[in-house]
This record gives sequence, structure tokens and C-alpha cells, in this order.
Amino acid sequence: MSDENRTIHEFDFELICEYYSGMERQGPGSPEVTIKALSFTDNLTADSRIADIGCGTGGQTMVLARHTSGRITGVDLFPSFIDLFNLNVKKSELQDRVNGIVGSMENLPFQNEELDMIWSEGAIYNIGFRRGLNEWHKFLKTGGYIAVSEASWFTDERPVEIDKFWRDAYPEIDTVSNKVAQMQNAGYIPIATFILPENCWTEHFYTPQVSAQKSFLKKYKGNKTAEELIANQRHEAELYYKYKEYYGYVFYIGKKI
Ligand code: SAH
Repeated sequence: MSDENRTIHEFDFELICEYYSGMERQGPGSPEVTIKALSFTDNLTADSRIADIGCGTGGQTMVLARHTSGRITGVDLFPSFIDLFNLNVKKSELQDRVNGIVGSMENLPFQNEELDMIWSEGAIYNIGFRRGLNEWHKFLKTGGYIAVSEASWFTDERPVEIDKFWRDAYPEIDTVSNKVAQMQNAGYIPIATFILPENCWTEHFYTPQVSAQKSFLKKYKGNKTAEELIANQRHEAELYYKYKEYYGYVFYIGKKI
């Protein structure tokens, strides 16, 4: 990569971070869904160690923290998200047991069998579902839980337009039954799966973006990268409304054997 490209890339990251920083969530989800996924787990105590991987600014982590009593470490690649995460922790008065650190899901700073639960909402696609499930397995204690949400197909067939969009964006998108098999092959008992309700995409994700997009475009008027970023976000939202019966996010909860 040339220096020029790298600069453009870094600028992209900064813009993307700024765009998402003002939002409670950086992916589809809701407090109700986090609590529902948590309801399939058990045996967590005040001594439990939990990791929230790709935690973003921590919308779901604070919900998780209020409904568990263990220690939670949030990990995200982007320092500006972690700064906001730790501000959120303080505001929620959870600093005695929740902490955000900068790190990569490809190289996590945990010991083997250190964790009682791994949480990851709308983020495992960054490493890939199969690779993430396989590589993170060693950090969990036997009997520990993994709970991840992931883009999935609801049907075997779908219109070409949406099929092509996802194959370009995330070729590992697959049907729910194939993902469950992948979870089992990675050494977990599949405990539960459920489809995230539509309000996780609308009310909690795309709707708050509408006004954010307007002010972002105003601030970066004439900036091509910013305009492209918003055009992409709008296109993605339009596709969701058009094709939501064919795909969505699914929570997969597994237990390490
Ligand atoms: N869990 C949050 C954020 C989801 S968006 C929510 O549901 O709102 C995906 C997150 O993954 C972003 O915060 C992004 O910064 C983070 N991410 C991307 N690549 C990563 C990596 N290699 N390691 C850790 N985090 C990563």
C-alpha cells in the first residue's frame, strides 16, 4: 500500500469512527435482545470473567453489566471507541468491574481457559464467524458460554441483488442451520439461536442514523469520502427495507464442551 493510500485509509477510519461515535450502537441490536441472549446462559457469579469482543462504545456491554455480576473486559480495535466506552462505564458507575481496552480480536490478551463467557454483538464478522469461534474457544473454560450475533440468510434462495451485495460485503454470510453446524464443529454445544427482531435494525440502528447523516454531510460538505460513506450507509439501509425477509442478524449461543 502506498503512503498516499494509507493516509486515505486512516482518514476513512477516523471518519467512520466519528460517524458512529455519536450513536449508542455501532450495529443492529437492542437491550431486550442482549437480555434475551443472556437468559440462555447460567452459572455466572461475581467471580466470572467475561469478554465483550468488538465492543464499540459499549451500548450492549452496559446492559450486560447490569444483568451480570462478574468482571467484564471490552475489547475494540479503535481507541476512540474505547475512550467513549470507558466514559460510559464511569457514567454508569461500573468502573469497579467493567473496563475497556484497545486490542484486536485476532490477537486477544487473555489466558487459556480464563473466561466464563465471550460476548460479541455484530462484530465477529471482522475475523469471520468460523475463525472467531475456533480461535476464541481456547480462552473459555469448559462449560463456558459464547454468545455472538451474526448476519445470516433466512432462506436457501434469494434475489440476485441482495445475494450479490452480501457476497461482496461478507462472503461468509450463510444460513442459520449452516452456522449452527459451524458452531458445533468448533467445539460448542449449540444452546440457542434466535433472529433479532426488526426494531434492532430500524428503531435502534437505521432510524438514529437519519439525522446523524444530515449533520455529518453538513459538516463535511464537499468531502468525497464523507459523501461516499453516507451514500453506502443509505444504500445498505434501503436494501434492508427491501429484502429483510431474506436476511437479518441471528444470535448464536453455544457452550464449550
Ligand atoms: N458490539 C458493538 C459494535 C459492533 S460494530 C455493537 O453491537 O454496537 C463492530 C465493532 O468491531 C466496531 O466497534 C469495530 O471497531 C470493531 N472491530 C473491527 N475490527 C476489529 C478487530 N480486529 N478487533 C477488535 N474489534 C474490531
